[in-house]
Amino acid sequence: MTRTAIITGSTSGIGLGIAEAFAAQGMNIMLNGFGDADEIEATRAELDSKADGTVAYHGADMTKPDEIADLVAQTEKQFGAVDVLVNNAGIQYVGPIEEFPLEKWDAIIAINMSSAFHTIRAALPGMKARKWGRIINVASAHGLVASPYKSAYVTAKHGVVGLTKTVALEAAEHGVTCNAVCPGYVLTPLVEGQIPDTAKARGITEEEVKRDVLLAAQPTKEFVTVEQLGALCTFLATDAAASMTGTALPVDGGWVAH
Ligand code: NAD
Repeated sequence: MTRTAIITGSTSGIGLGIAEAFAAQGMNIMLNGFGDADEIEATRAELDSKADGTVAYHGADMTKPDEIADLVAQTEKQFGAVDVLVNNAGIQYVGPIEEFPLEKWDAIIAINMSSAFHTIRAALPGMKARKWGRIINVASAHGLVASPYKSAYVTAKHGVVGLTKTVALEAAEHGVTCNAVCPGYVLTPLVEGQIPDTAKARGITEEEVKRDVLLAAQPTKEFVTVEQLGALCTFLATDAAASMTGTALPVDGGWVAH
């Protein structure tokens, strides 16, 4: 049976890595996320040509509940089901709380946290009806511990871990699991974008930001890779992972072991 996955925020970074891993498993995939239309179509076509399943794209904005509902509805219409839901879309903003722009707070809470509520709310009834489903929330090590200057992000990611546990309990008797994956630093556009600002804020070089700020908390001193996260999400989407639910799984080079 060909399974169908929605991966929010899969035009870039971790989401795209998960899409590549799922495509290699032969799943149908609904991509989502922002970017240049031609580049997105090239990504979709390339994945589609490599995959046994079909790869489609929906441009829902994760700040808009009606567009999120349409993403789930269109996926169910095109493929007949949403079997695997990966809530991955996310943004970041770094700044002290006294100066934190209100619109950044609202956007981070909406995209990084509330969008997962909206996708799950729309996709769970079909999963329950079919008695099988896998919900994977890409949280963060910042869903388990805090860092300064990331008030909205840390709040949203802790919220996602709470949502994960709640959904796991509500869905437990219906063949549906819900887990959070908690990566440490992965060198994606989201992280690369923070490096110049952090360098400026701390008066150090970008190399020093990588070594002394980002990887300071990561005992392996290595960035996590999108391939490692794709492999974990692939496992969570199997029948073998049926007894794993309500977890928040660190993939962080030892960061939260401190
Ligand atoms: P990224 O910037 O490479 O990708 C983010 C994706 O989200 C893109 O596809 C982007 O288009 C999409 N997106 C942003 N706003 C959106 C919106 N309003 N509607 C729909 N899509 C939207 O970032 P990434 O590093 O791959 O991050 C992916 C997830 O992983 C995020 O939730 C992030 O918080 C989490 N994460 C990242 C790291 C890291 O070190 N990179 C660590 C832990 C957790």
